[in-house]
Amino acid sequence: MSINRRDFLKQSAFLLAAAGNAAWVVEALSAGEEPAALQTYTGPRLETWRHSVCRLCPGGCGIRIRLVDGQPVKIEGNPLSPVNRGGLCPTGHSGLQVLYHPERLKGPLRRKGKRGEDQWEPVPWEDALQEIADRLGQLRADNRPHHFLFLHGGARGLMGRLIQQFMTAYGSPNSISLPVHANGYSPLLSLQGFSQSLTYDFASTRFILSFGNDWLDAEGPPVWMAKLFGELRQNPHRNRIKLVQVDTRFSITAAKADRWLPVRPGTCGILALGIAYILIVEGLYDQEYIATHTFGFEDWTDDRGITHPGFKTVVLKSYYPERVSRITGVSIDELITVARSFAANRPSIALWGEEVDGHTNSFYSQFAILALNALVGSLGKAGGIIIPPPPPPTSFPEPELDDIARWGNRQLRADQPPDQPLSLPRNHPAQLIENLPARQPYPVEVAFIYQTNPVHELPEPQKVVEALRHIPFVVSFTPFMDETARWADLILPDHTYLEKWDLDYGVPYLPFTQVGLTQPVVSPRFNTRHTGDVLLSLAHRLGEGLSRSLPYQDYVSLLQSEARALFDSGRGYIPSGEFDEFMFEYMVQRGFRFPKHLQFEEFWKDFQNTGIWMENPRLHTQLIPQFKTRSGKFEFYSLELREKMRRGNFPLALSSAPREAQMPEGEFAPEDLTCLPHFETPQFTGDSPEYPLHLRPFRVLTLFEGEGANRLLLLEMVGFRHQVRWDSWAELHPETAAELGIRDGEWVWIESPVGKARVRVRLFAGAMPGVVYVPFGLGHEHYGKYATGRGINPNQLIALKADVMNGHLADKATRVRIRKVQPA
Ligand code: SF4
Repeated sequence: MSINRRDFLKQSAFLLAAAGNAAWVVEALSAGEEPAALQTYTGPRLETWRHSVCRLCPGGCGIRIRLVDGQPVKIEGNPLSPVNRGGLCPTGHSGLQVLYHPERLKGPLRRKGKRGEDQWEPVPWEDALQEIADRLGQLRADNRPHHFLFLHGGARGLMGRLIQQFMTAYGSPNSISLPVHANGYSPLLSLQGFSQSLTYDFASTRFILSFGNDWLDAEGPPVWMAKLFGELRQNPHRNRIKLVQVDTRFSITAAKADRWLPVRPGTCGILALGIAYILIVEGLYDQEYIATHTFGFEDWTDDRGITHPGFKTVVLKSYYPERVSRITGVSIDELITVARSFAANRPSIALWGEEVDGHTNSFYSQFAILALNALVGSLGKAGGIIIPPPPPPTSFPEPELDDIARWGNRQLRADQPPDQPLSLPRNHPAQLIENLPARQPYPVEVAFIYQTNPVHELPEPQKVVEALRHIPFVVSFTPFMDETARWADLILPDHTYLEKWDLDYGVPYLPFTQVGLTQPVVSPRFNTRHTGDVLLSLAHRLGEGLSRSLPYQDYVSLLQSEARALFDSGRGYIPSGEFDEFMFEYMVQRGFRFPKHLQFEEFWKDFQNTGIWMENPRLHTQLIPQFKTRSGKFEFYSLELREKMRRGNFPLALSSAPREAQMPEGEFAPEDLTCLPHFETPQFTGDSPEYPLHLRPFRVLTLFEGEGANRLLLLEMVGFRHQVRWDSWAELHPETAAELGIRDGEWVWIESPVGKARVRVRLFAGAMPGVVYVPFGLGHEHYGKYATGRGINPNQLIALKADVMNGHLADKATRVRIRKVQPA
């Protein structure tokens, strides 16, 4: 497969260059329709700056906001933030278009007509809150607190803690997160004894083998990743790391890599096992690490005298290069070259991302990739996979649980598969959507929806609407009308991030802790309210247990109490410059405590002035002391899974799909294979003769799941790679297009077993033959005048299904066909 690499790099460099260059924002803002933005250029022009944290993606970038006459006119990166060090991505620059957006909801609304008719009337805050409190109070009075569902978009930081405390004290296990692709915590990690996601010691590694993680675009914290990449590749004082990108798409990360290995969809797992084969056969694995820190590499015998196969036996029997090459499409030579390079350039890291998570076999693919790290001794070692630093301290009291709350918290979750108790910690959005209309395991009576738009973001939107129809009372907290809010009974619009207080932490991938202070740079423009204040107000109305668990007058009091806990802990510091950071590290490494603030008041003032608290990267990078597994080691053979099967509450994971004839894995007992990394044949919706192409949706930095689609700036640059603006596109390899008789720029119908969509084709040599690529984020049906009716939403083509083991949405597992749109 060939591609004009130079042209592509030129285009993709635009994105990275955007970090730090903001001049065009003013122009784009001026082109908007909002008079308030233009008014900022009149008056005596008194300039001030405020510090805060961007909340437009999970990236956690520190920002500085320039105000003229008290009106925000520009957003820049905060140079003191260790995450972005002054950089900002295009989405970060678009923040003023959130604040000044002409279609913001201006106050609480109550549905007037039938659901979906879009008839609303203003409702006083007090009436809305009392109505919710009455409903929630009645559920508790009926001893059904678990019939309350809180659906959120992976809320983290202080709001994440508040939601969890509220739900626990109320008595519902249904705080369910909708991270649509899950590159953070995986249930797989729970089997290895971890209760949190892990991270990578990028600064000390020499080789990154990335399985479908487009970490320079829309995975991880984008600006931090982009700056890190520059550091790892261009710093003359360190060895240039090597990067191999395995993916079905020539992504931005693939374009920047030393080597791109295109693989067939759903085959990353077997490629990892093929690499393991080479490491074992050639003796390139870390034998001392394997002997000391792992279990199940060799065959082993249990206490009943039964011998079980180890990882080595299964790999050597089943994942020989000829087979792996045939299934993945990667040549044997390339397989061997990459395996040798991975072993020779230690410490090395194998990581995974969207391409792995989006298939029905994601659990075992992740397991195989994690096992590669164990093979080269990178699990829990410097330069390998490490434990992120501990979260910041908290001031929350232990939740006070009455009998109702205790009983409710013990109930099954609303996303529980019907035939198995929840065995692994996970969110299972596909199962939730199936369960709601079936009223299984019980009917949900009240739902809160916060920072997520499931009708747009989940596959088969019509099923999601159907699920919402079965919830009698739905409350949305969105600041903009969207596809999900349309089906709500009440909309209680939140402030935008430039109008409110918050504490942000838990940024995925960071090997250090940053606590970002989000603070209002202007008063709320409309009659909106912080969702945190709504929860605290409800807690006070719902009885003593809740109000004693959340004894805060308002969200600002809670936030200050948390800031005081940060100060009292004596950990970390507020940066004021690079020299400070260096000095702090130097002193603490030599046993000094180096408090910069003796009084909380000074600490609080500096915290507001910089917006950042941090713990030094090098001090809190934790290696893994011991695996909290049954063997106390990393388990190639998971004894925890075996125990779950023994207790009879776990299904065999082996897929029921038609499998290759005479698969070598068939020689092993299914019970053993279930506990070991192995290859599960990926399942796809749609028969290959009728639907000959794979649909490969992908995320872009400008849109993520689609929340950026109502901003002019982002629409203008959405498809910069293909010079596409304000629209979607479908990437097709020139050979595939030629076979279908399709030319560049032609309109086509993409049809899947669940839907169809009309889109323009862009020929792209970086596409794999037989695969069609469509970006997520556009195709809104009810998201304001800029976004609605623009482009297509690939979720309308994707079947709603998930990996049975970890609940991850299999959004790359649908086949499609393409036909030309005939001229009218
Ligand atoms: S990467 Fe995320 S947090 Fe950082 S500026 Fe962009 S949108 Fe904001």
